[in-house]
Amino acid sequence: MINGDFPNQIIFYAQNNQILEDFSNLLAKQLFCPKEQKDINCDCATCTRIEHIHDYINVGNFKDQIKKEEIKNIIKLFSRSALEKSAIKLYRIKGIENFNSFSANSLLKFLEEPPNNTFAILLTTNLEKVLPTIKSRCQIFFLEDKNNKKDVKDSNNIIDKLQQQFLKNLATNKDNNFILIRSIIAMKDFDSKDFLNKMLETFIESNFNNYEITLKALAELKRNQNVNLVMQKWILELT
Ligand SMILES: [Zn+2]
Repeated sequence: MINGDFPNQIIFYAQNNQILEDFSNLLAKQLFCPKEQKDINCDCATCTRIEHIHDYINVGNFKDQIKKEEIKNIIKLFSRSALEKSAIKLYRIKGIENFNSFSANSLLKFLEEPPNNTFAILLTTNLEKVLPTIKSRCQIFFLEDKNNKKDVKDSNNIIDKLQQQFLKNLATNKDNNFILIRSIIAMKDFDSKDFLNKMLETFIESNFNNYEITLKALAELKRNQNVNLVMQKWILELT
């Protein structure tokens, strides 16, 4: 399921904690749910008690300083269970701006050499305060406030319309998206990263396979300057 350059150390930032909580819970469910067909309303034993399952560690509360011991604890628990090769391990840190130099150093070492199949979901509402050394080891994604998004939709935002068209095409007439994306890229204030981020939020709820593909495309956009090429490849892989 998860392979290649799927980013496994991710910083999500958003304007409020709730968005971050909701989205990361969803992502955790998608990663751990044993069912073949992922469904956001899944009520399996894993999904219903996602915050308490083994191999998923939560640290931080968006307010208090993160202690060195808490990071050490993650490292200890994950190196112990590293023997189960295929099992996914995930840790989530709420408020990664709340590090002191001791706890940050422990985390940095872990981010540099993570054990196999280990995922880090790092959450913040204050990206500017996150240490640059942490940021540089992670993929960074901005999650939009859905309420604000509604306003944008009301004001007839063209990108939103194009996004809806894109999804419609994906369901009915896939190849039309090659043409659509070309015209979107040509638009004046178009930011392909914003577009992919929006799609990411749609896909995590509707199609986890496409979510992974989009996450990979976003990572590729950061390395590859050829936006057109990355986007075409992305469309080709979407299901
Ligand atoms: Zn499930």
